[in-house]
Amino acid sequence: MKVEILATGSDGNCIFLQSGSTGILIDAGKWKRDLEKKLLARGINAATDIQAVFITHSHSDHVKGLTLASKYRMPVYATHGEWQKISGVDGELRQVLETTYSKYDTIELGSLCVHPFQTHHNTLEPVGYAVEDDSGNRACVVFDTGHIDSDMLEMMEGNIYIIEANHDLDMLENGPYDAYLKDRITDPHRGHLSNDQTAAALQELIKGKGERIYLTHLSSNNNTPELASQAVRMALFEKKLINKRDYHLEVV
Ligand SMILES: [Zn+2]
Ligand SMILES: [Zn+2]
Repeated sequence: MKVEILATGSDGNCIFLQSGSTGILIDAGKWKRDLEKKLLARGINAATDIQAVFITHSHSDHVKGLTLASKYRMPVYATHGEWQKISGVDGELRQVLETTYSKYDTIELGSLCVHPFQTHHNTLEPVGYAVEDDSGNRACVVFDTGHIDSDMLEMMEGNIYIIEANHDLDMLENGPYDAYLKDRITDPHRGHLSNDQTAAALQELIKGKGERIYLTHLSSNNNTPELASQAVRMALFEKKLINKRDYHLEVV
């Protein structure tokens, strides 16, 4: 499965996943013109290579470039709850992620199967995604979430992990944000993942079979690539797993 992190961070998030002739975007959180440039630079044709856009939640760093979908007539998938806060997508392109017995239905799209699952953030109905292709790859995309529960862990298990490592707790505590914002970021039901939370989840998930890990959505005020990378490498070293030998870690 091809993975292109077109953008990530509090300025905007957008991931391109492709298998065979099927490509999707997860989130479109940069302005349309930015996204067009980034797609062009990677040789991705917006008109033909992207079959749909899947939205994790309605915060602007995840949806502000959705006019891209209208321009190229891409269907956009989001939950009922998130659609309430997303505007600017033509009615005929809006697709709702439905549930059956409180689990989200799988979307089949060419050679990809997309499985949404619930996350924990300060919007109405946020989700993450596990995306499978027909060669046996399974990628998960987990952005803004205050914690990772056991249902999420089960859905995430695969060989490609695109996961938020938002903040280092010490940097956040000693950093410039006011108490309200600090509390919001660390709130397990409304916030973001710390390096330690991400490392703990990966410690459960990574088996050392060459998994690819992309750490994303790092806070520019409260984290550094070195701290995020170190937290994950140390957690995996406790399982005797070593970067570049047992798994491949990239901080984006
Ligand atoms: Zn958010
Ligand atoms: Zn975000």
